[in-house]
Amino acid sequence: MKQDFIERDLSVLWHPCTQMKDHESLPLIPIKSGKGVYIEDFDGNRYIDAISSWWVNLFGHCNPTINQAIREQIEQLEHVLLAGFSHEPVVSLSEQLVELTPPGLSRCFYADNGSSAIEVALKMSFHYWSNHGHPEKQRYISLSNSYHGETLGALSMGNVPLFTKTYGPLMLDTLVAPSPDCYHRDPGDTWEAHSRKMFIEMEALIEKHAHEVAAVIVEPLVQCAGTMRMYHPVYLSLLRAACDRYNIHLIADEVAVGFGRTGTLFACEQANITPDFMCLSKGLTAGYLPLSVTLTTDEVYSAFYDDYAKLNAFFHSHSYTGNPIACAVANASLGIFRDENIIEKNKQTAALMHELTQPIASHPHVAEVRQTGMMVAMEMVKDKATKTPYDWLERRGLKVYQHALENGVLLRPIGNVVYMVPPYVITEEQIKHVVNIASDGIDIATSA
Ligand SMILES: *Cc1c(COP(=O)(O)O)cnc(C)c1O
Repeated sequence: MKQDFIERDLSVLWHPCTQMKDHESLPLIPIKSGKGVYIEDFDGNRYIDAISSWWVNLFGHCNPTINQAIREQIEQLEHVLLAGFSHEPVVSLSEQLVELTPPGLSRCFYADNGSSAIEVALKMSFHYWSNHGHPEKQRYISLSNSYHGETLGALSMGNVPLFTKTYGPLMLDTLVAPSPDCYHRDPGDTWEAHSRKMFIEMEALIEKHAHEVAAVIVEPLVQCAGTMRMYHPVYLSLLRAACDRYNIHLIADEVAVGFGRTGTLFACEQANITPDFMCLSKGLTAGYLPLSVTLTTDEVYSAFYDDYAKLNAFFHSHSYTGNPIACAVANASLGIFRDENIIEKNKQTAALMHELTQPIASHPHVAEVRQTGMMVAMEMVKDKATKTPYDWLERRGLKVYQHALENGVLLRPIGNVVYMVPPYVITEEQIKHVVNIASDGIDIATSA
């Protein structure tokens, strides 16, 4: 039954982010059902989804409240185009997002995945300057080690070589400032001191190129795909101020960090800033359906508001823009945040994750255990003193992945970095189990 299913799959599918040849030796895992933090395979094995199925799930699989919201919505309206038409779920969601995001973000533009939300922000920013008589502002600044998605514009903003190198010739010519990533701080430096130091180069780059730059784009506080590297909020405050000084937009890509992952509902709150564009996806629908939104300000919106004949409008759309079922799910998810006081409750979960993972920091092959809110990462290295990484060809993360699966946990290290980004419904017992398995997995992966 299971073997049969795998053969059917492998004869017709091409899986994301996968060297398909790996599946000659690495078994595919067909999942039959999900419940809470667990996903269950065809043989009845259960796995704790400790990475929230690529950082999307917030309140567990098959959450009863969200399932019910979907049932109600499909009886009412499954989809309608959003140009010239509207519906209740998208208006409610927009009202709530305007209310919950930093002050000044007042307009919601929808798409259906994180990469598309980035494309929207990039195009809107360029177009804003163009509508204001500055078509020469057509470049962007991003951070080293950043990831903003896979479509060509979004990919051009990222620079994790595994994703971008092959497509170099197709890329936009993006300016890159060194990441404030605190893993590389000098001994004795605090996160804040390091993040301030790293801002000097960003400021120099902004000063030099302001005339041709439309926007700076960053992942606030945590560079997730870039192996969960973290930095201090002060960097965002400095960046906001510099963007204001030099007339450049700030795009906050909160696709991964939004909706409570960093401890606050949005990461930008920790720096007390309002970006010109905020991109949200992943947690927006609590791990259920594809939806994304780019929020922006009145200032940006009004640069497009004009007589039709001027052709200043933002002529951009996706077929499933603002899908009602996806919006109903997002509304249900925000209801859970509110009704169950999730951000407050998560503080205890985060503290527990901190306490339980701390001992791993003294492991001879772990250079660092770092945490921001509900995200914890453990960096395996060949040499702890010099932070010399393992050769990537050794694929040590894969050993942790396999060990975890054998023990009922889904961990999916990025390179040599083992991390936990769990659904918020995870219990103390489950966290203990995940941490134990991660710890054993690290022992196994670093022992040979
Ligand atoms: C996942 C991610 C994206 C892309 O979102 P998709 O829905 O996968 O297209 C963009 N930015 C960040 C920071 C992400 O983590």
